[in-house]
Amino acid sequence: MPKVNMVELLKKAKEEKYAVPLINIDTLEWLHAVMDTAQRLQSPIIIGTAPFQVERLGGVHTVVGMIDGLVKDKGYTIPYVIHLDHGSSFEWCKKAIDAGFTSVMIDASSLPLEENIAVTKEVVYYAHAHNISVEAEIGHVGGDEANGSKEVLYADLNECVRMVKETGVDCLTPALGSVHGDYKGEPKLGFDEMQAISEATNVPLVLHGGSGIPDYQIRMCIERGTAKINVATENRRAFHNRLRDILAKDALLIDPLKTTWVAKEAIEEIVESKILLFGSNNKA
Ligand SMILES: [Zn+2]
Repeated sequence: MPKVNMVELLKKAKEEKYAVPLINIDTLEWLHAVMDTAQRLQSPIIIGTAPFQVERLGGVHTVVGMIDGLVKDKGYTIPYVIHLDHGSSFEWCKKAIDAGFTSVMIDASSLPLEENIAVTKEVVYYAHAHNISVEAEIGHVGGDEANGSKEVLYADLNECVRMVKETGVDCLTPALGSVHGDYKGEPKLGFDEMQAISEATNVPLVLHGGSGIPDYQIRMCIERGTAKINVATENRRAFHNRLRDILAKDALLIDPLKTTWVAKEAIEEIVESKILLFGSNNKA
């Protein structure tokens, strides 16, 4: 039962005003840290890998095999989603779906609206025939995580409505000032726009660039229909800071069980704090 798509997960989250975390994973240690923590706190969880992470890990079958295998070996019972983050083409989404991902994001937001809608429609058609959920993006989330450096471009309400109506997409990322990576100063999110887009589209909204947004702004996003929040940068920083500390204390360490597998505790701490902040604990 636990492997699911995002549809029911996000519908429930939106209704009950909490958000399901998407945590990007970079290595197997990451996955252990995220799943152990979500299971302990009884939170549903979305495991995200963008194409560059999928390729680094080995490919779509490696990602699916690793996640499903760990769930089986450890006997996790929480609902989990295997999600392609920032799928860059129909081919990428199809490849992920065929391998056993349960959800995909088609990020064609750098294309003109008509083309973004056209490719999203194509992905939704294929995905829904396989009971897979789809996320699309309007406007540009800033920063440089997945698709090269992007300027922030705010989502337009009418474009969001068209995207949802014409494609039947399950959830939407309206770019409203969030960025991948680090923020320069306090983030300035378009909360009024978020509220309006949530009401007009009636689908759960997604917030990318969840690292570094102050807690009170996260709560405002959830209040305004955001039901999925992506986190990557904070885990990377916490993990590597912890790893540097461990190695600095003992330059002779060569056992991964004493280095990376200990540093993963820093990820567990971040993921726990996000689950509690987003309110997804005990929602499994
Ligand atoms: Zn993103």
